[in-house]
Amino acid sequence: MNNRNKTFNHVETKRIGIDTGLVAELRRFVDERASEYDVIAQDIWEHPEIAFQEKRSSALYRERLASQGFIVTELPELENSFVAEKMITGGAGVLAPTPVDLPIIGFMGEYDALPGMSQACSTERQPREVGAPGHACGHNLLGVGSLVAVEALVQLLESRGVAARVRYYGCPAEESLGRIPMVKAGRFSDASAILTWHPADVNTPHRYVTSANLAVVFSFKGRASHAGMAPHAGRSALDAAQLFNLSMEFMREHLEPGIMLHYVVSDGGQRPNIVPESAATFLYIRAPSAAMVRTVMARLTKAARGACLMTETSFTVEIKHGKCDYRPNETIQDALLEAMRALPLPKPSAEEKDFAARLQASVAKEDRPATLLPIGAPASLLKAAIHAEVGDFGAGKRIGGSLDTGDVSYVAPVGQMNSATWPLGVGAHTWQSCAASGSPWAFKAMRWAGMSMALTAFRLAAEPKLLAAARAEFKATAEPYRSTMDV
Ligand SMILES: [Zn+2]
Repeated sequence: MNNRNKTFNHVETKRIGIDTGLVAELRRFVDERASEYDVIAQDIWEHPEIAFQEKRSSALYRERLASQGFIVTELPELENSFVAEKMITGGAGVLAPTPVDLPIIGFMGEYDALPGMSQACSTERQPREVGAPGHACGHNLLGVGSLVAVEALVQLLESRGVAARVRYYGCPAEESLGRIPMVKAGRFSDASAILTWHPADVNTPHRYVTSANLAVVFSFKGRASHAGMAPHAGRSALDAAQLFNLSMEFMREHLEPGIMLHYVVSDGGQRPNIVPESAATFLYIRAPSAAMVRTVMARLTKAARGACLMTETSFTVEIKHGKCDYRPNETIQDALLEAMRALPLPKPSAEEKDFAARLQASVAKEDRPATLLPIGAPASLLKAAIHAEVGDFGAGKRIGGSLDTGDVSYVAPVGQMNSATWPLGVGAHTWQSCAASGSPWAFKAMRWAGMSMALTAFRLAAEPKLLAAARAEFKATAEPYRSTMDV
């Protein structure tokens, strides 16, 4: 049964809004469990696991959620992924609807680390273990912030007698294939609304959109020969790869604005005195929409065919991974902003301020605005080390990076926010963001993000009109989902 577009007017709850009692109860609940949440975030930061290897991290969440009464299901389509659900029936006095009619509120948690990014919680570049992975995208915080949200939401629903199905999606391998197999398996399609967040250097709803992308390898095959004795007998796969790469350079001029191509020669042959039998170009296409990625891919395939014709070689294509553009649900993002403004921001201690200032100083001054300007945040924020207010950035902006949340936003209404876990001017995938993600300040900002999402989610469950508005927006702007990997 498709209940996605139903108005949930049967929930016997009047508009509750953001009352101070609710905020106080939420803060008390999370404050009482603060050390438990911080321990998990610290533990995952100390045991970073890269994409497809997050066995330990995934198990930590599954055990925690099971202990809180969630029914946990590991998903076969993606290693270390899972979904955990708890049904809140609304308690006495509420007309119990049938489960299928309950709003389903989901939160997404990530937990993979980045290879080679190991870093101590220090203001100088200092790996904890040289060459080891590290949480330079703060996913040790991301998963726990969503855990805070899911547990706090259960508390609020139970105490106020509001019925809903509450879900936590364990989303591994974000830095690689990501949750696309989960999206394709329909895991998100029945959700009424989905919330998530990302560690960052500012507090803001995630108004900006992200790029759709496709990571693909074009492999060329030729014929080996002695480059000195019998070059005429060889057909160089490297020649084909180079002609193909050159075609990309010419193609750039004739691509729509916002389309990017970046590549490396991942195989260039072995020795100069052997005509290369194999060569490969590993490239990313990025574009404002999934449809544009497909158009560019079709043109690149023609270019590869041309390069092979010129060199009497052949080619194959390997799709590595691909993500759709993120389509934010503004109704949910507006509600997130209200919740963020209703919740006092954490206060940094003197040591936390000092740590942030020294970490910020380790980023070259001219590089610091790079985290702010693309999302429309003013560079003047950099006068401080920690973003001490709630901003509202990114409307009408698109960043070059991509998120697998994008695919989810094609199948369900998604709201997302950023919380300032890192000093201003510190960007993702740096040693500084890895250092900051293991610091006490980051844990405070993580819990604040969790509370903001819980408050928003509570309103979506308790205010049928709000959820109906989010769903109506989703329906009005919907486009059929097709992964960029399905070229
Ligand atoms: Zn990330």
